[in-house]
Amino acid sequence: MQDVAEQPSAIRWYYEGLGQNVFRAVSCRSCGKLTFPPTGCCEHCGSWEVEGVELSGEATLLYATHNITPACHPRFETIAPYVYGHLRLREGPIVQAIILGVEARPESLRALFERGPVPVKAETLTMEDLPVIAFRLAG
Ligand SMILES: [Zn+2]
Repeated sequence: MQDVAEQPSAIRWYYEGLGQNVFRAVSCRSCGKLTFPPTGCCEHCGSWEVEGVELSGEATLLYATHNITPACHPRFETIAPYVYGHLRLREGPIVQAIILGVEARPESLRALFERGPVPVKAETLTMEDLPVIAFRLAG
């Protein structure tokens, strides 16, 4: 655990972790819930009493689709078309992120849909400007 209040910026601390394949959130000392991505205060109760925690990177993919080009942000144009999904981190929060290991084709997305919720694992995508968290199908 790290005291996020001692960091110059919770967001900078998050991106520095991503650059090292370390996935970070903050845990609230008041309500005990996690905020991901981390900010300086709890997104659930507004408390500033938060501390940094490391996430396992393990998650379950709940939903997946593909983007319609152009990408939603210029930084993603180089990897478009890609699969995008909603997933639940093992620690609880629900996250939206790029999903790796699935082709952005209707047949691939249908096969994934028929499998149902599947395990995924976080990894860092190195982009031109900032690293980005993505999740890869496990197995
Ligand atoms: Zn809280």
